Formats: sequence, structure tokens, C-alpha cells
Amino acid sequence: MRIVDTHAHLHFSHFKGDLEHLVGRFSSDGIEFVINVGIDVDDSTESLNLASKFSSIFCSVGVHPHEASKVERDYIQKLKKLAESPKVIAIGETGLDYYRNFSSKEDQKRVFQEQLLLAKELDLPVIIHIRDAYEDAYEMISKIGLPNAGGVIHAFSADTSWALKFIEMGCFIGIGGPLTYPKNISLKNVVRAIGIENIVTETDCPYLPPQQFRGKRNEPAYVRFVVEEISRILNEDPKEISTQLLQNARELFSINQ
Ligand SMILES: [Zn+2]
Repeated sequence: MRIVDTHAHLHFSHFKGDLEHLVGRFSSDGIEFVINVGIDVDDSTESLNLASKFSSIFCSVGVHPHEASKVERDYIQKLKKLAESPKVIAIGETGLDYYRNFSSKEDQKRVFQEQLLLAKELDLPVIIHIRDAYEDAYEMISKIGLPNAGGVIHAFSADTSWALKFIEMGCFIGIGGPLTYPKNISLKNVVRAIGIENIVTETDCPYLPPQQFRGKRNEPAYVRFVVEEISRILNEDPKEISTQLLQNARELFSINQ
């Protein structure tokens, strides 16, 4: 089975001890490529540094809604500069998070809007984080528009009708570890309703491990458990499912490897 993780944070301290080892195992774990995601300007710089070291790791640069209130005046210029690297294949993660509200709604909206505009200008796909803010995020994206390259609603956590609305806009739905939680019937229903062609797999590692590893560190290889769960839900062969999921990720992020 060949798998892809479209949302990892391998530059976080959780991987300090064994990153080389972990990346060294990518090919035997069936991992085709990983997209390593930044959460603010400095963090995106680290994310890019890591991606620059490994041929199977690409990178996304952006400011997470939690960090929205802390951005400096010229942060968009800095993200743009980072995006000059061919290793940067997306903008994000950006979006709205009203669950924690670490930054004010006003700041979150402003910084999300500015990054959507940047993604449009550079025509890079956008990696969108939404928590308890689907209504506002949808309204903003409707108004501003997505880049032609599209986007992904990462760690999707709303219901089927929201999934279909975002798909109609040109988004993929990012599915990870929470799909394997027995009680998460809602997300299983989403997968059944939207079908394989609208899904990309992810981990959000070190967070959101699948059921087998709850309470432990998540890592890209565990995408396999997500693929297996998707196959069960859709009653399809895991190998075929993984091939389609790989194709979706390549299409969204314009990766030919
Ligand atoms: Zn993330």
C-alpha cells in the first residue's frame, strides 16, 4: 500500500530524537511523500528547512488561527519570500478556530483573509484549519474565493452537508486519525457520502493518532490505519483506495513524484 500524509508537523520537538530514523523508514512504510505544515512565520521557516533536507518531504507555509494576533506587519512578505522555494507547495495552515479563541475573531479573520489572498496571488492550494467556525469560514471563502489550485479542509470535523458545500467550492476534505474512533459515526458518514474522489489523507502528527495509538505520538506511517478504515467504510480494496488517495494528493498539491 502506498500512502501519503498531507498534514504533518515533523519539525515539532516531539520528533527531535528520531526524525532521521522515521524518515529513513518512509519507503519501507510505503510513504510516497509528506507535506510538512508551518503554523507561524518562524515555524514555517523551520518547516521549510526540514523539507529541504529530504526529497520525500514538501512544505506549506502559513499562520495558524491560534497565532493570528501575534503576526508582525510584514508577515505576508515573509511568507511570500519563503514560498519562492520550490519545496513550498501550499499556503497554510490558516483558518478560523473559535473553539480555543487564542486570538480574537477579528484577528483570525484578517489573517485568514490575507493568506487566502496570498494563496490566490501565488496560485498555491491553501490548507485550511476550521474548528467551531464553519459558518464564518464558509462565508469568507465564498466572498474571497479560493486559488485556482483549490484547497483542503484539514482535520475535517463538521457534518456531511458542510463537507458537500466545501467540496462544491473546490476543496478536498482532509481525513485523519479521528476517522478510526469507534464513536465518530459522523465522520464515517461524511466519508461514505462524499466518496473517495474528494478525500486526502493526513495525520496532523504529532497530534490526533488513530485509535490503536490514542494517547501516544502520531506519525506519518499511521495513515495506513486511516486508509484501511476508509476502505472498510466504502467496502473497497485498500490498495485501490490508497492509489486513488495518492492521486488526489498529487493533483491538489501538483506533486509529480
Ligand atoms: Zn496541523
